[in-house]
Amino acid sequence: MKVSRLLVSLTSACGLFISQAIFATSAPSIKVDPNQTWQHFVELADFIEDKGKRTAGAPQEKQMADWIAAQWQKAGLTATRIGFDFKLKDTPLSSENLIVTLPGKSDKTILIGAHYDSVGDHNGSLGLIDNGSGVSALLTLAHTLKDQALPYTVKLVAFGAEERGLKGSKAYVQQGLDGHKSIELDKLVAMINLDTIIGGDYLYVHSAHSTPYKCDFLSKTNYTSDTKVRDGLKTVSSNLFGDKAHQLHQPFEGYPEGETGSWSDHSPFACAGIPIGYLEATNFAINGKRGNDGYSQVADKAYWTCLDTDKLTACDRKSEKAWGEIWHTQFDRADALFPVMKERLRSQLQQNIQVLAQFLVEADQHL
Ligand SMILES: [Zn+2]
Repeated sequence: MKVSRLLVSLTSACGLFISQAIFATSAPSIKVDPNQTWQHFVELADFIEDKGKRTAGAPQEKQMADWIAAQWQKAGLTATRIGFDFKLKDTPLSSENLIVTLPGKSDKTILIGAHYDSVGDHNGSLGLIDNGSGVSALLTLAHTLKDQALPYTVKLVAFGAEERGLKGSKAYVQQGLDGHKSIELDKLVAMINLDTIIGGDYLYVHSAHSTPYKCDFLSKTNYTSDTKVRDGLKTVSSNLFGDKAHQLHQPFEGYPEGETGSWSDHSPFACAGIPIGYLEATNFAINGKRGNDGYSQVADKAYWTCLDTDKLTACDRKSEKAWGEIWHTQFDRADALFPVMKERLRSQLQQNIQVLAQFLVEADQHL
């Protein structure tokens, strides 16, 4: 190679290197105020302690919807509210989904969703982590991102009636397929589901299952198990939090590493061909009631009849009553959680929101 040629190629290689370096750091590092994060969560905890359970279709669920809309309004964002009807054992009920939109440079859209209803009320659950945690993230994200330059448009969506068969997210996707003008399904490039994002021992990020979900509740399906949303979130979390980053769950029966089932609001979106990511706090290392399926969330004696801390399972599988499960139980309320794990709740919530905010400002690097 002639010297001049060598110089040209070195220069262009350098140019490439520099432009890649600039590209890699072009998204600003997002600051999320930890006090604001915690304040939103505590305000929400106070509200639900006052109102009680938020069973799908019940007046308290509607009051929660009004409260969420009022909180977004404080950030100057007006929610679009789209109602839907559903049946529960032949009883006709109704609920609604709430949407706020943060316009980005492109009208390609990322939807962040969290259900706001709760279940388990017969035993005293108030649904604080399932899914007050996801809802409070939607509030803090609205405040954090409203004046931020975003490559893609962001829709924050609070879904009703998840705990009664994903009624809200199924209705949302079907209304989109039917051409509802506020939904614009064809612009969606990613959906991120937030369901119980704090409380469990570890933070995980999942993709849809590589074996398609049953999608026959939709009039038109186009299933995808694309992992790019999951992988992008994991990369951002690793960059920000190192060895405390969101992880992929280990494989367990029927579930390859990092792949999740159809039990939450991500599934109608995967059915409609939209790549999904799903944030969740639990512990797949615990040998719970049905094995290592992630349903037992904590290896903390406060939430077990008797925990064998060496084997990470019940001392006696026959007599165990609690299994380290918080969701849908008497433990999912502030008075059962704050005395044991207030600091954990605070730091996990902050981490989730920082990862989401950073992912959204640099989304064009991941999608
Ligand atoms: Zn949930």
